[in-house]
Amino acid sequence: MIGFNKPYLTGNETKYITDAVASGKISGNGKYTQLCQQFFENRYGFGKCLLTTSCTDALEMAAILIDIQPGDEVIMPSYTFVSTANAFVLRGAKIIFADSYVDNPNIDASKIEALITPKTKAIVPVHYAGVACDMDLIMELATKYNLFVVEDAAQAIDSFYTGKDGIKKALGSIGHLATFSFHETKNIISGEGGMLTINDMQFADRAEIIWEKGTNRAAFFRGEIDKYGWVDIGSSFLPSEIIAAFLWAQLECLDIIQKRRKEIWNMYYNGLTDSRFSFTCPNIPKYASNNAHMFYINFKSLKDRTHAIELLKKNGVNAVFHYLSLHKSPFYSAKYHGKTLPNADLFSDTLLRLPMFFELANDNVSSIIHILENE
Ligand SMILES: *Cc1c(COP(=O)(O)O)cnc(C)c1O
Repeated sequence: MIGFNKPYLTGNETKYITDAVASGKISGNGKYTQLCQQFFENRYGFGKCLLTTSCTDALEMAAILIDIQPGDEVIMPSYTFVSTANAFVLRGAKIIFADSYVDNPNIDASKIEALITPKTKAIVPVHYAGVACDMDLIMELATKYNLFVVEDAAQAIDSFYTGKDGIKKALGSIGHLATFSFHETKNIISGEGGMLTINDMQFADRAEIIWEKGTNRAAFFRGEIDKYGWVDIGSSFLPSEIIAAFLWAQLECLDIIQKRRKEIWNMYYNGLTDSRFSFTCPNIPKYASNNAHMFYINFKSLKDRTHAIELLKKNGVNAVFHYLSLHKSPFYSAKYHGKTLPNADLFSDTLLRLPMFFELANDNVSSIIHILENE
């Protein structure tokens, strides 16, 4: 049986966890948290990084930071994970779902402007499969209408966007705020885990307070103030050092992990790009890089996809699909009064994710390609 995902361990995870435990500091914001945050800030040019217990938590922090109030509108794709929306719904926002492109699951940026109203507060682009959204256009709209941009970069570690100015920027460094996930299904993992990046530094001090349960404890431990207390709303968004130690072992191997994932991705792409097939391969816009988070194919219909899943299963391969459009979800459909979103629905019905993980052998990739060739 070829599984869909297998979390990869670099070998140093338990060593660093043991070290964290032995150090006597196992709560959050210790040595390993600092190491990880500095790594990200230095490598990707993020303004300030705060590790969180999940990307979901980082999104919730973002919603608090931009001061979402009941009735505020937040524009995001419908074809995304529930957390993208939940974080803003929790603060009373009204979600305005936008459609995907016809040939790319990302939010169709050319359709955003028509959705902006005086109540719009933020745009939340999701870099699906680690492939960049059209950030020049999204940031232009944000400037024009005075909106915040929160990048949901859960899948987008080590991926880039090249703007019209020719400058290549890391995803997560462009919006006012951005969020990442280190869930075991992502490229870099810590079991559960995430990160908030703050690029608009007006949010930096308050972010740290929200992260530490609404207290100024972090400033107190740095010796900047002589006592700490309750100064804002907040929650326990920071992970323990045990999680950060695990993550540090992963970050040391980031280049090795990315190299292998890209090899697998390219094998799939080269083997499955052919007009005689009944499915298409991902379309990566010129401005986007590929971080090999996911390899997916798109069928012409739900029926074709169902057939392929069965065929793969019969041959011992576990391929999965995801994201029923959020505007059609049991929770939101009755609240949704917007237009139909045909492309989001299309991806819900036709997108199939193939096994994609560091230890997937070339032989296995070849046999999956072979099964699909005869689909
Ligand atoms: C994985 C994922 C999340 C949630 O990440 P967690 O770390 O599990 O909370 C949010 N948004 C997108 C697009 C994701 O892929």
